[in-house]
Amino acid sequence: MYVLCPVCETNPVALPHKVCQTCYGKVKAYYVQPREHFEQQQEKMRLQWLAKGEILPPETIARNIAFGLKSETERWARIVGDGLSAAFVMIEAVDGQPPTHAFHRRRVVCLHDLINRLDPALFAPANKAQVASFMQSAIDFWEGRIADNERRRVHQAFNNIMPNEKPSDWDAKSIVHWMIHLEDHFSWMWQQWFECVYDAIPNELPDAVWCELLMKHFADVIAEWATASV
Ligand SMILES: [Zn+2]
Repeated sequence: MYVLCPVCETNPVALPHKVCQTCYGKVKAYYVQPREHFEQQQEKMRLQWLAKGEILPPETIARNIAFGLKSETERWARIVGDGLSAAFVMIEAVDGQPPTHAFHRRRVVCLHDLINRLDPALFAPANKAQVASFMQSAIDFWEGRIADNERRRVHQAFNNIMPNEKPSDWDAKSIVHWMIHLEDHFSWMWQQWFECVYDAIPNELPDAVWCELLMKHFADVIAEWATASV
């Protein structure tokens, strides 16, 4: 009897990970480049130096290759911890989608469900009804039911109740504000939406809840990711 990988729903989970070997390998390939990648990088650098009349010593090249590999491998080990999380893999799959405005609408609706599962005390002094009403306005805006001037008015009013005090220090309050922010506000975060949300509320939601809601909203995207070849 084995447990099925929640991401591809095809292969058995490869313990200690929460996903199968195939899904594990796919994500790892994003994070850890093969040795050839670093070798090619160094070869390019060697030629650039040569064009300037300088010789890049072979021991420097070897050291740079080893360093590149080591730092990626170490970073990957930190991500995996005592077993790669299925929520992490699903987030990779969803964040890998081109973030168009139509797709962002889906992200905002999913975020609404995630926020609803958080402890309401995290949003004090805003109460549950105020957060709910603000989130509804954000969805209304992204669904095209309210105009931008109304969006700004709603955000200002909510900001008076629950200010986004430390915009660079993300927490549960930040992600509520993110629901109504426009693309211009996010820069690179626009491409890594759920990764940033996940980082903003570490340990606030069990991975099972993340998986449940990502599957509810993005089962098509996750299935497509799981069946695509690397
Ligand atoms: Zn799998």
